[in-house]
Amino acid sequence: MKSLAQIAAELQGYDPRALPAEAVNDFLARLVEPVQEVEHAGIFEALGRVLAEDVISPFSVPPHDNSAMDGYAFDGAQLKADAPLVLQVMGTALAGKAWQGEAGAGQCVKIMTGAIMPAGLDTVVPQEFVSVRAEPAEAITIPPGLLKPGDNRRFKGEDLMQGQAALSKGERLTPAGCGLAASLSLKTLPVKRRLKVAYFSTGDEILSLGEAPREGAVYDSNRYTVFGLLTRLGCEVIDMGVVRDDPALLEAAFTAAAAKADAIITSGGVSVGEADHTKAMMKKLGDVAFWRIAMRPGRPMAVGRIASGSRSCVLFGLPGNPVAVMVTFLAFVRPALLRMMGCTVAQPPLLKARSAEALRKKPGRTEYQRGIVSTAPDGSLQVRITGNQGSGVLSSMVQANGLIMLHHAQGDVARGDEVDVLMFEGAI
Ligand code: AMP
Ligand code: MG
Repeated sequence: MKSLAQIAAELQGYDPRALPAEAVNDFLARLVEPVQEVEHAGIFEALGRVLAEDVISPFSVPPHDNSAMDGYAFDGAQLKADAPLVLQVMGTALAGKAWQGEAGAGQCVKIMTGAIMPAGLDTVVPQEFVSVRAEPAEAITIPPGLLKPGDNRRFKGEDLMQGQAALSKGERLTPAGCGLAASLSLKTLPVKRRLKVAYFSTGDEILSLGEAPREGAVYDSNRYTVFGLLTRLGCEVIDMGVVRDDPALLEAAFTAAAAKADAIITSGGVSVGEADHTKAMMKKLGDVAFWRIAMRPGRPMAVGRIASGSRSCVLFGLPGNPVAVMVTFLAFVRPALLRMMGCTVAQPPLLKARSAEALRKKPGRTEYQRGIVSTAPDGSLQVRITGNQGSGVLSSMVQANGLIMLHHAQGDVARGDEVDVLMFEGAI
């Protein structure tokens, strides 16, 4: 395991006092390691978990060629471009009950969706395309020009071939992934164990819910946003409440958290000029770097490791401002935690939208503005900001449905320019 100094030495131009946002993610990618332990989760519990191994199809899906429609199966070689085709109905193939027999020239088999294609037949005409005659023997007439040979037949293995990787190690299981696993008759899936993340808020001015209001004090909101963000990520959250600005209490909290968690997230107490003990305690107990990141909101952040016995726990010391907490979580902590979870996909894709207004932006830092993405009358995507972009204005995060990401080198944005947006849906 590399020390923070070793990681810093690997990064070109590393400057903890003016760190570009991209450098933060590079640093964290080197700092964190995926959990190793594997569990076998029942399919109902596997949603959102990270696959620990590839899932190989033990058989092909579908297991046979079958019909994609309710209709009549026949040999498509008989189709003529300019004449109707009349076929005698020899029997019925049902889903789950194959038709045993042989149908040849001038013959067809009534077939239901999902039923196995009878031997030698390769084409299905949907029932609504044919006229049926009952006497003297049941027969159908297919008008010309409607079908090509092979139409409406699904191939064996067109979903999954036997031996193929159906799901890959490092994928987070989606509803579709769980369904696909079930189509392979898998009741359990090998997943990484859940990541344990401890969280506490710091600051003497922070009130816990239920406490009486006090002049100059604010109720703790970070505890609840972080709880929500971690829960959505599928982490096991260890909620440690608010810790007062007292060295003994802080030491006890960090030590207890490091003993049981893979990662600790704190909020508050990492800004320059903080009069409190949080930074001092981080420094005392761990290998910790204190950064000033070239970003807005969320400039100060502490990152490092705290050892507990032979284990070590990753520390993310987030700023105190409620919006800065969410932004630094989404930009840096979330991708790092996903890596720790064993996940290979770290960030959701960015969306492009036209800015509905001019935005001021200083090159040389990354800015995250709270945006509301909507569909413009011409059908394109547009985004406007929520108004007050103060880093303490949590209501702006409630109004927003995404973060406009103005990159490090980017300058002012003119009205109508395209900007990148990190949508909350999928990230939160
Ligand atoms: P700090 O980073 O400790 O200087 O805090 C910056 C600002 O965020 C201050 O106005 C704090 O009162 C506020 N703050 C810190 N922690 C929390 C919290 N858990 N909930 C709400 N506001 C907070
Ligand atoms: Mg503080």
